[in-house]
Amino acid sequence: QVNQIWASSADGSAPIYKNPHYSVEARVKDLLARMTLEEKIGQMTQIERENASTAVVQKYLIGSVLSGGGSVPAPQASVGLWQSTVSSFQNGALATRLGIPIIYGIDAVHGHNNVYGATIFPHNVGLGATSRDPDLVRRIGEATALEVRATGIPYVFAPCIAVCRDPRWGRCYESYSEDPILVKSLTDVILGLQGTPPAEHKAGQPFVKDGSHVAACAKHYVGDGGTQNGINEGNTVISYRDLKRIHLAPYIDALAKGVSTVMVSYSSFNGEKMHANHFLITRMLKTHLKFKGFVISDWQGIDKISTPPFSNYTYSVLTSINAGIDMVMVPYDYVNFINNLTTLVKTGYIQQNRIDDAVKRILGVKFTAGLFDLPFSNSVPGSVLGEASHRSLAREAVRKSLVLLKNGKDLHSPLLPLSKTAPKILVAGSHANNLGYQAGGWTITWQGGSGNTTIGTTIFQAITGTVSASTQVVYEESPDVNFAKGGGFSYAIVVVGEPPYAETFGDSTNLTITSQGVQTIENVCSTVKCVVVIISGRPVVVEPYLPIIDALVAAWLPGTEGQGVTDVIFGDYNFEGKLPRTWFRTVEQLPLNVGDKHYDPLFPYGFGLRTGVSRRLTTAKFTRSSSFH
Ligand code: BGC
Repeated sequence: QVNQIWASSADGSAPIYKNPHYSVEARVKDLLARMTLEEKIGQMTQIERENASTAVVQKYLIGSVLSGGGSVPAPQASVGLWQSTVSSFQNGALATRLGIPIIYGIDAVHGHNNVYGATIFPHNVGLGATSRDPDLVRRIGEATALEVRATGIPYVFAPCIAVCRDPRWGRCYESYSEDPILVKSLTDVILGLQGTPPAEHKAGQPFVKDGSHVAACAKHYVGDGGTQNGINEGNTVISYRDLKRIHLAPYIDALAKGVSTVMVSYSSFNGEKMHANHFLITRMLKTHLKFKGFVISDWQGIDKISTPPFSNYTYSVLTSINAGIDMVMVPYDYVNFINNLTTLVKTGYIQQNRIDDAVKRILGVKFTAGLFDLPFSNSVPGSVLGEASHRSLAREAVRKSLVLLKNGKDLHSPLLPLSKTAPKILVAGSHANNLGYQAGGWTITWQGGSGNTTIGTTIFQAITGTVSASTQVVYEESPDVNFAKGGGFSYAIVVVGEPPYAETFGDSTNLTITSQGVQTIENVCSTVKCVVVIISGRPVVVEPYLPIIDALVAAWLPGTEGQGVTDVIFGDYNFEGKLPRTWFRTVEQLPLNVGDKHYDPLFPYGFGLRTGVSRRLTTAKFTRSSSFH
């Protein structure tokens, strides 16, 4: 494909922008000077795969195409189908006058999660629990980049570096932690996704190492995790000082590590929509922090600047572009967007130099990501998708993310680790044998699904694969008391939690596990010795059932590799995970974050037992000193 492009310069002297021997800066300058307003505005427009085609990309000179959550070319689409889908849009772009390649973007927020058969890693909250392990997160970024590139895609809308301050927010699991210091350190995922920049790299400069890495996107700028009552797309009402200290802090690290793009948050800061915030986007991010990549809007994010009864799309376009947004995610009516932006520039409401700034940034990322030289980005073989080494990395992440919250009803009777040779085990609960539940939202579909939505190992399957041949494993999703009582079980493993959810639909004011899950705990744990494994995107109400539970494990949303759970509960590895969030007692306490006055959690931030030392810690009444990292 490289040759195909080079062949377009018939006399052998390719224009500077097509010549990889020139610097990115020189190529951008050369190309920008050749572009018409129409071509520039096209670059600023990102459309959705479902509404895109080769012809649309070509006709409207579109700069980018995305797959939103669950937007797949076909159910269980193969790697080949993904590649040809992306390539078809690329062909449209390359057939335009200047042949500027599109950049195709996708949400790969815990592995390449829209793609059937991809390795699904724990959601960020679980990674936040992995004993503060930036290198693990970097390796996950690297594996994710390979799987993404294998499908022909060079750009991911990840990582989410939100600092979730209230678990009632339905996107809390996309956040590593309530603690900005922990989130800052885990921005090392960017080094995995994009590759590690050289020592001379300047903070704010976009970086993509080569064709086995992708351009990353730090999101959602800024304050997404700080909204009042954890309301999605809500209002973050805090001082400017706290905004900087808590929510802006991880962006400094992301920029230092070369993040190529930044996505703007739907939320407001003290009443002003972030998509309209000139001060924070242009003055803070671009001028003060010297960010040189491009700023992308969220999905229809600009539309929400003006809300009924004063909806005015022209105003939305005007305000967002002038605030400093460079590329706009326009999933639906892109013609309307293009027309509005064109008129606003022609009438002088938006200055030509604002457009040039946006296009310069977009082209800069495209050159950096190698798209002009390798527009089809298919140098990574399809076989990396879900390959064994990636699955074992995910399994490692799962076992390191599990937090042991309780082990034994008293100091003489730790329940974990369980014996692999027990005669008879009961496995119960709605989440024990459900891969979709185990993976959570943003897996194959936007809100996540139930059952065998992709390829992986459920916790139940992992248990049967771990215990001795002589151990009888009985699986009953919701056993009644008599079933549990009369079964002659050595102990039970109960896996319950929250059903999957993603943005908006995941907001909750009660933070309970399902009522069926509560019933299962009550039926089983009141009669058999039990370990309860909670599958959830956040801490949930457990205090009322704690007295009847022998051992309690927070497993977050572990993804496709259920063996990571059995690795620790059967003692092949010790527990290492530490709470990345405060585990509250009651929802009335929320928001409750480490460092708050009157901090009285059920389990404090940083808490996590190890099986070997459980006796001492279980007697310590979970005081801060016994549990902080
Ligand atoms: C989400 C983003 C996501 C985008 C594209 C939005 O609704 O807020 O995080 O990247 O959709 O799918």
